[in-house]
Amino acid sequence: MRRMTAILTLLVFAVLPGATPGQQPKEEFILAGKLLDVHSGRIFDNMIILIQGDHIDRVAKADEITIPQGAAVIDLSHAYVLPGLIDAHEHIFLTGEDNGRYDEQLLKESYQYRTIEAIKNAWRDLGAGFTSMRDCETEGAMFSDVDVQTAISRGLIPGPRLWVATRAMSVTGSYALLGYSPEVTVPSGVQIVDGPDEGRKAVREQIKYGADFIKVYGTGGYRFTGEGKMVSTPTFTLDELRAIVDEAHRWGLKVACHAYGDPGLRNCVDAGVDSIEHGLDLSDYDIQQMKAKDIWLVPTLYVYELVAQDDLESSDGAVSRASIHEASFKKALAAGIKIAFGTDAGPFPHGTQAKEFEYMLKYGMTPLQAIQAATIDAAEVMDPYEPHLSASANQEQEYSNPRFPTHPWSKSVGATDPTKFADIIAVDGNPLDDITQLEHVKFVMKGGVVYKNEFASPPVDKLPQ
Ligand SMILES: [Zn+2]
Repeated sequence: MRRMTAILTLLVFAVLPGATPGQQPKEEFILAGKLLDVHSGRIFDNMIILIQGDHIDRVAKADEITIPQGAAVIDLSHAYVLPGLIDAHEHIFLTGEDNGRYDEQLLKESYQYRTIEAIKNAWRDLGAGFTSMRDCETEGAMFSDVDVQTAISRGLIPGPRLWVATRAMSVTGSYALLGYSPEVTVPSGVQIVDGPDEGRKAVREQIKYGADFIKVYGTGGYRFTGEGKMVSTPTFTLDELRAIVDEAHRWGLKVACHAYGDPGLRNCVDAGVDSIEHGLDLSDYDIQQMKAKDIWLVPTLYVYELVAQDDLESSDGAVSRASIHEASFKKALAAGIKIAFGTDAGPFPHGTQAKEFEYMLKYGMTPLQAIQAATIDAAEVMDPYEPHLSASANQEQEYSNPRFPTHPWSKSVGATDPTKFADIIAVDGNPLDDITQLEHVKFVMKGGVVYKNEFASPPVDKLPQ
């Protein structure tokens, strides 16, 4: 099976742009004044990155590589260079400026129109330095994320590499659209699933139409109590979640669980999901289980800061989701839970999500930890469900999703290592000293193609505004 994986991977690389048989891949040299090695946190001076086609071929000190006459050279000698960023939780089918008209989007806009908006959102994210993203459901636009992913991967349109959830799942009565008369049939922001068998069937259906991972809502609504606590409603029963997780894992897909606190969050942890999304109000039990089971936390801190004032108003000044999140995030960090960078961009404008870094630092991460969370760690979150891949059973099912061999994420993205995709960004100053540098990414390359270069004169900007 491993050999099969190797052959398939080779086949995939053989058909990637720049590696057409009989044609030399395009060669480019990046002069990197300061290169951040995200593994060690070390910054190397005066480096050269040799790019062949869409991948990095070699990284060496400037005096160890001779640049041939007439070679293509990208001068980033006055910049800090690092791998492209990864947002492990966003929604391209939501547009921040239009937040608040969720019902209208689902009731009045076609999937086609929403897909056009999604493409534009993806451009904004790419322009901000996010070269890979895990899109955490289409909010009623069905499987349209698969179409955007296909169009990007075929080179029809620019955009980040996408890993998509398609529809996500929740239970009857827990997810918008809500509040309409029973006589009116309205669309839903998720696939509604009741009972373990429906859960298994929904996983199979979503896989059939292109899901790369499964997203579940472990909790639904929430309210603040007079004592300054938050109470959230659990959605699925433990039995339902166990069926969904088991089915997804059988096919080699991971499960991401949106959850705000017990008991819904605890159900997800007990069912063995692979990541907790948001993860507000983690109990000591949740933290201990997440650690024992190697479950990732994708915290999305910034999005709650944006609504902190609204929360305070609705709780009579007692509490906000941001303050609850801050306290439990700090506990999770201290306990050594694996944390990956995710932002929930969509409810707020795409392309602005690097603000998340500031809050990761404010709540206790080091700059390097935050950058690793958005590079090597986020790549790992997106890898297929590993125990499945190393198991000897179900060999046929390993390739049920034909995109798996093309995206061994942790081997392909997240660092400027040779053989990885040439997904590279650059900023003016040292992001380890000033994390806000990442809010002003000036150079974006994805797969060896430069989409933005404000260091060049004249500047390059290939992304439509
Ligand atoms: Zn989300």
